[in-house]
Amino acid sequence: MESLSFDVVVLGGGPGGTPAANYLSAHGLKVAIVEMGEGLGGVCLFKGCIPSKIYIETATRFYEFKQDDIFGIEGGIGQLTIDLKKIKQRKREILGIRVGGAAKLSAALGTKIFKGVGHISGADTIDVITSETNYRLNFKSLIIALGSTGVQLPIEGAELCKPVEDIFEIDALPRSVVMIGGGYIGVEMASMFARLGVKSTIIEFLPRVLSTEDVNVSSAVLEGLKELGIDVYLNSKVTSVKEANGKKIVQFLLNNELQNVNTDYVVMAVGRRPDTDNLNLDILGIKKGNHGEIPVNEFMQTSNKNVYACGDINGKMMLAHAATTESLVAANKILGNKVEINYSAIPHAIFGYPESASVGLNSTEATEKGYRTFKFSYSQDAKALIEGDSKGFVQMIVDPANLRLLGTQIVGKNASELITEPTQIISKNGTIKDILSSVHTHPTLNEVISETANYIMGQLSKTM
Ligand SMILES: Cc1cc2nc3c(=O)[nH]c(=O)nc-3n(C[C@H](O)[C@H](O)[C@H](O)COP(=O)(O)OP(=O)(O)OC[C@H]3O[C@@H](n4cnc5c(N)ncnc54)[C@H](O)[C@@H]3O)c2cc1C
Repeated sequence: MESLSFDVVVLGGGPGGTPAANYLSAHGLKVAIVEMGEGLGGVCLFKGCIPSKIYIETATRFYEFKQDDIFGIEGGIGQLTIDLKKIKQRKREILGIRVGGAAKLSAALGTKIFKGVGHISGADTIDVITSETNYRLNFKSLIIALGSTGVQLPIEGAELCKPVEDIFEIDALPRSVVMIGGGYIGVEMASMFARLGVKSTIIEFLPRVLSTEDVNVSSAVLEGLKELGIDVYLNSKVTSVKEANGKKIVQFLLNNELQNVNTDYVVMAVGRRPDTDNLNLDILGIKKGNHGEIPVNEFMQTSNKNVYACGDINGKMMLAHAATTESLVAANKILGNKVEINYSAIPHAIFGYPESASVGLNSTEATEKGYRTFKFSYSQDAKALIEGDSKGFVQMIVDPANLRLLGTQIVGKNASELITEPTQIISKNGTIKDILSSVHTHPTLNEVISETANYIMGQLSKTM
């Protein structure tokens, strides 16, 4: 075993690990990343954010082409079909560009990449098993960024269910799919399949889909799912999955009665959990939290001050851009700088049908805390009308005492892009007036943000 010394070793080359490694290399530290996958990028690049959005992009276009008659395009454009092999090829090309770019950047900054499985072997060492040599890496600081893994329900026939990443490898569309779970992954994938013409069903244990979202977001998305013809069973507990005559039979309890859905393809999409099994954390003197997460302070530092945990593994906010932000917070702490995260200014988007995005407080929290919630429709927005999709809304949470913007939910076209402006205002403790102080290009969907702010000013002036 070859022994090498580094200032910082980063375990895991996803969004929680790579940004810190590169940042620290750029600041002159000797840094190593240990990554067992095909390259740098993590679940986000290889199995999550990017592949899912590549498939959703095709589904969105396919669905929109079919509705082109409203734009005065007559006669159709021939018999539209889906070629999954081409989508897969496109996915490979996009992944190739991203992986190549990440490798070049790390190499240029001098980050040493070890392609292999790493494990904690001592209080200041990581052992790496690669296909050629085994290494012992000594570290002064360690960043653990090993991500999360899909939760499996302990039910009969769980092995008949596919993990979500398998979807991005299939060569032919199934005729029907069942998503066990109506969280963001279940909703995104059911919306994708349904728009490609696959009969889709969501079975959700809780009383609403997207149960961690604002209630108004959940109900708008539920309407959209139904519009696509997706069967959504709420308050439903899946009890087993069986196989008969080439079909899967998903059995679930609804109102104390057993129900069945027959389908071709079942996806287990009931959430993700930090991947801390077999990690030897005790060697570092670190205790796991109740959900297997590695507890950290505001600087991503664990109970061992030389060890940091970033991204999904700390269980704080399982999103790629949250992981990246945490990674840079940890890197800064290692450099002696105290940078903190404002989690209430971290937005997230759900690429279902319709698309939705949120940041900060929601309407339930607003009511509890005595703030006001304002909802404004896309229906009058010029660009939304031009684009033939004016079903959305913007909801803003405002402190009426000082007009501070505390939260925003957007449902509708481009919600994932439109959330940026409210996020910037919230991260600077800004107000509704700050939205109105900048000019929004006409005609763009961005105007729906300033229109909402105008509406709120009008409503509040009536009560002042
Ligand atoms: C289907 C799906 C869609 C998603 N869509 C979005 C989205 O649209 N937007 C969003 O923000 N988030 C999305 N996410 C979540 C996002 O992918 C994660 O939050 C993000 O990848 C977390 O980054 P991370 O660095 O913590 O972990 P990961 O990305 O999981 O990276 C961990 C890395 O550690 C490596 N590793 C693990 N064990 C070892 C070991 N022993 N030795 C060496 N290497 C090891 C793994 O190979 C992996 O590359 C999605 C997730 C899924 C599953």
